Amino acid sequence: MNTTELKRLFNTPTTRLAATYLLIIMAMSIGFSIVFYKTSAQQLHRQVPPDALLVRPQDDQHKPDPAIRQFLELRAEEGRDVLRTRLIAINIGALLLGGGLSWWLARRNLRPIEAAMEAQSRFVSDASHELRTPLTAIQTMNEVTLRKPRLSLAEAKEVISHNTEEALKLKSLSDGLLNLARQEEIGVSARPVSLPDVMTEAINQVLPNAVAKGISIDEQVPKVSVLASHFPLVQVVVIILDNAIKYSRKGSTIVVTAERHGRYIRLHIIDQGDGISEADLPHIFERFYRADSARSNSQRDGYGLGLAIAHAIIRQMHGTIGVTSKIGKGSHFVIALPIAKTQDSL
Ligand code: ADP
Repeated sequence: MNTTELKRLFNTPTTRLAATYLLIIMAMSIGFSIVFYKTSAQQLHRQVPPDALLVRPQDDQHKPDPAIRQFLELRAEEGRDVLRTRLIAINIGALLLGGGLSWWLARRNLRPIEAAMEAQSRFVSDASHELRTPLTAIQTMNEVTLRKPRLSLAEAKEVISHNTEEALKLKSLSDGLLNLARQEEIGVSARPVSLPDVMTEAINQVLPNAVAKGISIDEQVPKVSVLASHFPLVQVVVIILDNAIKYSRKGSTIVVTAERHGRYIRLHIIDQGDGISEADLPHIFERFYRADSARSNSQRDGYGLGLAIAHAIIRQMHGTIGVTSKIGKGSHFVIALPIAKTQDSL
């Protein structure tokens, strides 16, 4: 290991935090040892009696035998030596034990912060990558057009229409990012919300897409209220229904039902679409995640933000969202939300 590598190792946040912890432990241990040593040494010194008490009847001229004083002072010195050695041993022990403990504590405390920072930097790099694609398309189109000596009206219109399309993609991406940030930061306030009303509103929003693909939505949601926020919940249902339509064959059916499960209502949205592979399933609620089939199919444009937004909203409402799926058979999304106290019957 060369000096640069050594420097890098000692300059990590974990090492710096561990060193701070160790410094505090050692300052306390050494400080305590000094005070303890000084007090004990004073006490040992006080054990040696004054000359008057050392005089024995047989001593000449009432002077103590110097051998007695020497012996007592030697014993006190020995006592101080033993104390010093033990305190040094204790401090070496504290250094080794404290070093290990400080490292462990620093790792434990920094791990969640490092994970959050890693997620943040992955998010920024994913977002930049997604922003680059439409921007590069606009730039390339403009450069190619500018190089042409002459431009017909039809060609100009084609360029403008292409750039408008890319600008719309950018807008939808920035809307998605803003939406996600808002859900994660502000949160939603939960109150009793009628599930059938939410469904009606969501279905009305996705109906044109469903009709265009000849897909029917079979909605059988009972009259029930959940603890949620109306518009964000509509948004979640729209995201899932939109996906169900996007990834379903023409003429298929999407079924929406709900049932009571303990203190929760479970909303089921079941499609007969492409399904999601086992490898993709654990990741589809992650930001910017798109299954390979969706990524390779350019018609199904999306940024992999919809389900991340849905997940953030449902989490804010103290609910859960999950999915089971089989390739070629379809997907089954389940949203569980707390039942509102003012309950209509199920
Ligand atoms: P996107 O905007 O790309 O659809 P989402 O976050 O809404 O992003 O979905 C993430 C991925 O999950 C999609 O790219 C798609 O591969 C997969 N997915 C979501 N819903 C379904 C569904 N109903 N059927 C099949 N695949 C789905």
